[in-house]
Amino acid sequence: MFSGAVILGQKRVIHKCLLCGREFYEGEVEAFHDHAAKHARQDLDDIRALAPSHINKGKLFDPAERDRDLERHWRSVRRDMKREGRTEVRPNEMAERGD
Ligand SMILES: [Zn+2]
Repeated sequence: MFSGAVILGQKRVIHKCLLCGREFYEGEVEAFHDHAAKHARQDLDDIRALAPSHINKGKLFDPAERDRDLERHWRSVRRDMKREGRTEVRPNEMAERGD
């Protein structure tokens, strides 16, 4: 009587749609491809928003936001701290970001 449910429970999820969360089970590869194609036609902006280059835009890990002077400063602070065996940053080592 419950055999249908048991078989469903044993099905392995092969794909989960990142856009709508729908799960696809073994034997549904083609359905997944159709589903992805449907999204590609209808939800291009949502798909783009999932790309790392868009997720990171304007945030810390956006390569365009990289401040090499700031990086150099903190590398040298870290080196001094290790050498002197301290765990606190001195007030005069705090960097102001100068744009
Ligand atoms: Zn979907």
